[in-house]
Amino acid sequence: MTKQNAIVLALFVLAAPAWAQTDPKATEQWEPVPKVIAPGRQDSAPPSDAVVLFDGRDLSQWESTKDQSPARWKVHDGVVTVDKASGNIQTKQHFKNYQLHLEWQAPVGITGEGQARGNSGVFLASTGPGDAGYEIQIMDSFNNKTYVNGQAASIYKQAAPLVNAMRPPGEWQTYDIVWTAPVFAADGTVKTPAYVTLFHNGVLVQNHTQLTGETFYIGKPKYKPYTDAAIKLQAHGDPSLPISFRNIWVRSLD
Ligand code: MG
Repeated sequence: MTKQNAIVLALFVLAAPAWAQTDPKATEQWEPVPKVIAPGRQDSAPPSDAVVLFDGRDLSQWESTKDQSPARWKVHDGVVTVDKASGNIQTKQHFKNYQLHLEWQAPVGITGEGQARGNSGVFLASTGPGDAGYEIQIMDSFNNKTYVNGQAASIYKQAAPLVNAMRPPGEWQTYDIVWTAPVFAADGTVKTPAYVTLFHNGVLVQNHTQLTGETFYIGKPKYKPYTDAAIKLQAHGDPSLPISFRNIWVRSLD
């Protein structure tokens, strides 16, 4: 081999690893194959792997939070309306991490102002009757001023929504939520915190927002260890007309 040829060969060998990385197949991943599911006919319809929590017919998936008796909110015309007298309701089934879809409506003619205007809420993990839970606020925030970390689509007293995407009373609102549950170590300390992503009427309003604990009416948020929990809907005691829900479904991500 001539000296010149040896240099060319040496350069080729040195360059070889870089040359190997030009193979597009080197970065293709083929396993595991994502499970095939059937999406709903519209984006709001439950896909085939969802647990349908309310389809307009009955509250068989729900119970009273205070005593686990059958949920007594009023089902009519394909919707369920909050019954303030009978209190909060929650799912019989427990969940950890999930995607949740729900639709809610403040009625035409709703009265009241601030927090007392169609106040309800979805608690993403309800561990018992006395807990604070993790509330995403539901209320009429269309032209209705209140503290911003308490308006609709806020994580109550922790994070205001990025924008106010409210439709007026009488129109249906959608929430599409991704809940990453907190993880606790054996000694009860927080290993990883909870996160919420929320689309309100298709608009991103909470972007992987980190929670600092359960959402309290009074006092700072704090965590309390749990493993799985119910999803709870709030019967708030404000004197305004009650709101209604429809089309509620959840997809476990565990
Ligand atoms: Mg509320």
